[in-house]
Amino acid sequence: MILFFKIFDYICSVEYKSIIKMKAKEVIDDLRRRFPNEPEYLQAVEEVLMSIEDVYNEHPEFERYNLIERLCMPDRIFSFRVSWVDDKGRVQNNMGYRIQHNNAIGPYKGGIRFHSSVNQSILKFLAFEQTFKNSLTTLPMGGGKGGSDFSPKGKSDMEVMRFCQAFVAELWRHIGPDTDVPAGDIGVGGREVGYMYGMYKKMAREFTGTFTGKGLEFGGSLVRPEATGYGNVYFLLNMLATRGIDIKGKKVAISGSGNVATYTAKKLLSLGAKVITMSDSNGTIYVPEGLTEEQLDFIFELKNIYRGRIREFAEKYGCEYVEGGRPWGYPCDIAMPSATQNELDGDDARTLLANGCFAVSEGANMPSTPDAVHEFVNARILYAPGKAANAGGVSVSGLEMAQNSQKLSWTAEEVDAKLQRIMADIHTQCQKYGKEADGYTNYVKGANIAGFMKVAKAMMAQGIL
Ligand code: NDP
Repeated sequence: MILFFKIFDYICSVEYKSIIKMKAKEVIDDLRRRFPNEPEYLQAVEEVLMSIEDVYNEHPEFERYNLIERLCMPDRIFSFRVSWVDDKGRVQNNMGYRIQHNNAIGPYKGGIRFHSSVNQSILKFLAFEQTFKNSLTTLPMGGGKGGSDFSPKGKSDMEVMRFCQAFVAELWRHIGPDTDVPAGDIGVGGREVGYMYGMYKKMAREFTGTFTGKGLEFGGSLVRPEATGYGNVYFLLNMLATRGIDIKGKKVAISGSGNVATYTAKKLLSLGAKVITMSDSNGTIYVPEGLTEEQLDFIFELKNIYRGRIREFAEKYGCEYVEGGRPWGYPCDIAMPSATQNELDGDDARTLLANGCFAVSEGANMPSTPDAVHEFVNARILYAPGKAANAGGVSVSGLEMAQNSQKLSWTAEEVDAKLQRIMADIHTQCQKYGKEADGYTNYVKGANIAGFMKVAKAMMAQGIL
């Protein structure tokens, strides 16, 4: 009788092992039921789960510890009201958030976004993506993201300062150099990081590397402002090399005209490529012969000093400007979306492909819709998702943290060399996990699996938390 039960137990355990598989679709359906109003978050989760499902199921221990659900849901979310006084003496109220997604491989790390569209869904998608991106960088950083529905556009310097101070008056207790290290993102550049860091320093009474993207005078790293754009171009060069393509003379369509877009353009110009478009949330400029360095300097000043609109470039240089237009309808060899999420849809992708575009490297986070990604991968073009291609920014943030801890600063050449090596490493990881039977490198799959495996192994080793 005892023997019978032992055999029965054994059969059950074998059967149990063989059926405990993660079914990506079921997990996503469940998250959809629990978070019905978070489309961006669900979109990001779906993309990752669909590409890691097979690898995940090679490790039944992951499912026994319900690792996938723990990895999809943030460790914690802080949300708070931010009250501040505008120049007319009126009290303004915004919402502030910090999502601490996962710290299995290092302190939470990820930017702060100030934009009127910010909500919990957008920040949850960004924090989720950041976890995998940071894992790819080879540096010890977990994933987080934060922000507010405050828009710096049209605000005076003093208003921006007062808002940043009010934001950090609440946030400061949740962050720290070994806990959670914020940085910039849309609407948050050197000015905003400076104000936030100043307030943090005052509240915490410490001078540590709690923010990255700081000014050079107070602990910032050389090459941090350039890092996301330059890193994206380095990643692109690695991809082009796999097909023996030279960047020189290639026509590149860029969207956006902020930090990522302008430094992407700068590096491209230095390599002899032609930047034929740039944009902002109002419209797109088209320069068929390619921007000159002087014209790019003008855009940089226009956006960072005068905080003007891209339309003013067209007025000065007499080029084509389309109000409300996007760059993807112009013939180009390479597209580098560098503005915001879901800015390139399936129709845009089909137009790009019909016009001969053979490479897309994403500076922004999730700029291509799932339909667009499907088109690129199906067409077997070189397609790099943001979590791989734009990881240069957070990588140099990681190097800024390392310099702050050592109380040292490295030269621009040292930082740039490390950035190039990290982007090449990320490319290698994508190739390792993303090679398909026909020899095509699926960079989406490669980046997701490589990023996932490191975090998953760390979570398993640390137990159920
Ligand atoms: P900036 O605020 O410096 O620039 C954003 C640019 O995108 C601006 O030209 C802005 O136009 C445009 N833009 C913003 N929202 C929209 C919209 N809804 N539609 C059309 N255009 C829009 O931000 P960054 O350059 O820092 O960030 C750009 C992207 O890169 C984001 O997706 C960000 O998450 C990602 N990223 C940034 C990193 C960094 O280091 N900064 C690192 C990794 C990724 P306007 O001026 O009119 O608002």
